[in-house]
Amino acid sequence: MGEATNERPTIEDARASLAEHFGYQNFRAGQERIIQAVLDGRDAMAVMPTGAGKSVCYQVPASVLGGLTLVVSPLISLMADQVHALKQAGIRGSFYNSTLKPHVRPEVLRRALAGWYDLMYVAPERLADPDFRDFAAKANVPLIAVDEAHCVSQWGKDFRPAYQEIAGFVSSLPVRPPVVALTATATGRVQQDVRNLLGLQDPVVEISGFDRPNLLLHSYELTPKKRELWTKNYVLRHPNDVGIVYATTRKKVDDIAEMLRDEGVRVAAYHAGMSDADRTKAQSAFVNDDVQVMVATNAFGMGIDKSNVRYVINCGMPQTLEEYYQEAGRAGRDGEVSECYLLWSRGDIRTCHFFIDNTEFAPDMSWDEQNLLRKHRERLLGEMIGYAMSTSCLRARVLRYFGQRLEVGVDGCGGCSVCLDETPATYLRVERASKAVEKLRKPVRRGFADDDDVWVHDGADEELFQRLRVLRKTLADEAHVPPYVVFSDRTLRAMVRRRPRTQEELLEVPGVGEVKLERYGQVFLDELAS
Ligand code: ADP
Ligand code: ZN
Repeated sequence: MGEATNERPTIEDARASLAEHFGYQNFRAGQERIIQAVLDGRDAMAVMPTGAGKSVCYQVPASVLGGLTLVVSPLISLMADQVHALKQAGIRGSFYNSTLKPHVRPEVLRRALAGWYDLMYVAPERLADPDFRDFAAKANVPLIAVDEAHCVSQWGKDFRPAYQEIAGFVSSLPVRPPVVALTATATGRVQQDVRNLLGLQDPVVEISGFDRPNLLLHSYELTPKKRELWTKNYVLRHPNDVGIVYATTRKKVDDIAEMLRDEGVRVAAYHAGMSDADRTKAQSAFVNDDVQVMVATNAFGMGIDKSNVRYVINCGMPQTLEEYYQEAGRAGRDGEVSECYLLWSRGDIRTCHFFIDNTEFAPDMSWDEQNLLRKHRERLLGEMIGYAMSTSCLRARVLRYFGQRLEVGVDGCGGCSVCLDETPATYLRVERASKAVEKLRKPVRRGFADDDDVWVHDGADEELFQRLRVLRKTLADEAHVPPYVVFSDRTLRAMVRRRPRTQEELLEVPGVGEVKLERYGQVFLDELAS
């Protein structure tokens, strides 16, 4: 926990905190550069794909810097959960947004000033509140983190006007703390906006590799009818796996959800046409593993850090490759092998053009600006179509879009439908023949460098893994947190493989830190021994 010391914490202090709170021995390369910059008092910008570990970049500094780190985030409905998850790791968090009743707000600020918290999530709109400004001027703020920083840009799809007030807030503080901006959105225009509009000063910029080696990428052309059938088959064949199905309209979301429900699948639906309460209910059912499949429009997902999503199926084509990769990227955050299917049709392409032609622009936008923006969107759509139809490696293609080169040898990347030479039909046929699929998906070692997992699990392992999952669900329900907050799938897999017998051995498992060892260690050791 953050102790106020006169000396600046070092990267070694930060590493010790990473081990204690998160159970990892080393930072990933990108994380280390960002955290070093922040500890040196410099601004920083982290452009990293979903799952790369952005939150560690401010949570660990918050735990060693002393004072109160402010985290600006657009994800108001998730803040309470995030604070809850931090508590499980032994970090003292709080949040400040419009969901707090007005009479509670002064109390939260009073506690923050009294040093109760290491970190506070705050909605961008609250930065303009006079009460909050007074508070911030008095508080010792060693760091401001701006999460989902692309929301500052009108060129992104998540534009949030209040983000443009952040720079003013930062400069209104008596002492300007370092600012770290984090985003998974990588196009040049948005990056430029993040630097300029947030007023970053000579930032250390870390743009991490966008490759997600544990994601298997597939693109199939299928008519709407066929793709719904395909989806049903897939879901029924993977009854132990958690997945997300994206559809393009509210009606299709409801239809697909109903189709799956009729088959006895535990499923939730999520789209903008539902009430806030229903959406929140659907979201927590999914996050808490109470349902197996979430069927949703693209309104669902930003900031959902559920780590055990094993597949994402897009029934229909998103308008940009960036949006597609973000949606697909919600699979496999824990580093386990996960599947991403893009099921598209020619009709989707026509619909996308139609949407662009009929975009409603802000009334103060000139004709020229509107045209420019329309052209820009057509170009982005062109990239999306190019990916869907690609006859060369899909992984290389999407990485090239993000400005990164991937060298694929004669054997291909080993993880996309082009390199694996599959079609939807071969996939189902091979599945039906139920072991040849292992051959199709060669157990390539894919994952981050810190990952020592092997991807083939035998039957006995699978049974133990399922038992640990059940145990995890019970503990999570008792603690009122989502299961992945207790331990990720990847951590459970590592337990199964290593079979630790003592507390010391359990502590060696990636994802088991001292805080969680104390809380859950013995129960898991007992289950592993039985
Ligand atoms: P992001 O916010 O970039 O999508 P998260 O912060 O949710 O990513 O982290 C993704 C996953 O990676 C989490 O399960 C997290 O515990 C894990 N992780 C983060 N940092 C490390 C690390 N240094 N070593 C191993 N795993 C890590
Ligand atoms: Zn490939």
